[in-house]
Amino acid sequence: MEKWDGNEGTSAFHVPEWMIQFADQKQEFNKRPTKIGRRSLSRSISQSSTDSYSSAASYTDSSDDETSPRDKQQKNSKGSSDFCVKNIKQAEFGRREIEIAEQEMPALMALRKRAQGEKPLAGAKIVGCTHITAQTAVLMETLGALGAQCRWAACNIYSTLNEVAAALAESGFPVFAWKGESEDDFWWCIDRCVNVEGWQPNMILDDGGDLTHWIYKKYPNMFKKIKGIVEESVTGVHRLYQLSKAGKLCVPAMNVNDSVTKQKFDNLYCCRESILDGLKRTTDMMFGGKQVVVCGYGEVGKGCCAALKAMGSIVYVTEIDPICALQACMDGFRLVKLNEVIRQVDIVITCTGNKNVVSREHLDRMKNSCIVCNMGHSNTEIDVASLRTPELTWERVRSQVDHVIWPDGKRIVLLAEGRLLNLSCSTVPTFVLSITATTQALALIELYNAPEGRYKQDVYLLPKKMDEYVASLHLPTFDAHLTELTDEQAKYLGLNKNGPFKPNYYRY
Ligand code: NAD
Repeated sequence: MEKWDGNEGTSAFHVPEWMIQFADQKQEFNKRPTKIGRRSLSRSISQSSTDSYSSAASYTDSSDDETSPRDKQQKNSKGSSDFCVKNIKQAEFGRREIEIAEQEMPALMALRKRAQGEKPLAGAKIVGCTHITAQTAVLMETLGALGAQCRWAACNIYSTLNEVAAALAESGFPVFAWKGESEDDFWWCIDRCVNVEGWQPNMILDDGGDLTHWIYKKYPNMFKKIKGIVEESVTGVHRLYQLSKAGKLCVPAMNVNDSVTKQKFDNLYCCRESILDGLKRTTDMMFGGKQVVVCGYGEVGKGCCAALKAMGSIVYVTEIDPICALQACMDGFRLVKLNEVIRQVDIVITCTGNKNVVSREHLDRMKNSCIVCNMGHSNTEIDVASLRTPELTWERVRSQVDHVIWPDGKRIVLLAEGRLLNLSCSTVPTFVLSITATTQALALIELYNAPEGRYKQDVYLLPKKMDEYVASLHLPTFDAHLTELTDEQAKYLGLNKNGPFKPNYYRY
């Protein structure tokens, strides 16, 4: 199965005996922040989901009863009751959402086609804990088409699309999730996925680490059969590295969060598209001719600047790093200190990952109606706390839009209280999620099919060749034609004609 094997050149490791070390594991996980807080720490696309799935149409009937799904007796049309969703009758609406998502997830659809002849996940029993959205449904159905059996719970108590969960349950997936679960429901759902008579998972797909944590805590022996963990969030990956460092990780794990394609799409391309969407939805503003300062010219800053420049805005950039600063200059942006332009700009956008980039002093000096927002991970990039003082009046003018009014009548427009603008006020494009989902699927295939010894009990990045494969699966959407190396060229560059095409240290 040449095409699933992205690991050429990977040194062969001897798999150590399955040594499951559970002492202190509980303590390891107990140090973590609360579930909601943990979600907001994560930087992956699907995090912060309590705000970010607003666009997907919800068909939930307002007359829906308030009975907990746990107390309902439901069956799908084939008579199965191995699921727990809000209302199985919503399946048809969910199916439409899934079909819409399929249009923008070409790589997963391509994987399904390829799978007609072979089933790289035959025998895989995957337990998953992710946001349950139309895009996840496309992933799950792809895993099913590739031969896997799946059981699924939600990684966030708010983000489940009930209609989609119903559609999945209707087509035979044991899904345990609904929007608005309690903390107790949350763990109950996870438990229903793993604690099943006659079925034991051999792969884990996690987003945030809760499922992994649960299995470690409750069913440690399950790890004897588990071939690997695929983790998507920053937080979950961080936990896995901690476990690995402490010598307590007992199976190989794949960090999909840091794969090249995912990073590029999450940071640069996603922000390039969603900055305008977030600003427009909250303020209805016109961008042409507006003066904007973007703080930070990393991946996110580059995306924001490119979008605003294309709309005719006059864009200033602030940076601390001379390399990024020079890139900003070469891209045609004026590099300034925030103080130099703060009085004149119409919009201030932070994307540094740093704190107090916009201070109270800056806020005091902004002109009337200046819009202030943040695209970085932390909600302390703008010193919002300093605005909660008695002399300033806050007026909530729209959902996610506050006017903060000074005693002289000047007001600034603060979006999403300084939290991530795009995740709070717009949606993540399905194509971006397609990259993540494809990366997850390939990571599962890789871990499941890897010959013994390729991976030990450690955390791995997706092999470069797989990353390239994810990208290549998305190219046909654009009718893009990739050039192939000639034998002579391959020899000259010292490359395999089929990749990988870049060394691991290459910066894209
Ligand atoms: P990055 O490290 O590539 O870029 C951040 C830049 O900010 C760096 O170049 C750094 O030199 C600069 N910087 C730091 N402190 C500064 C300061 N005081 N003033 C001016 N510049 C400063 O990171 P990135 O990938 O661009 O991500 C930036 C932030 O956005 C992170 O917090 C990241 O987690 C978050 N993020 C958000 C989204 C989203 O969807 N909104 C997506 C991905 C990442």
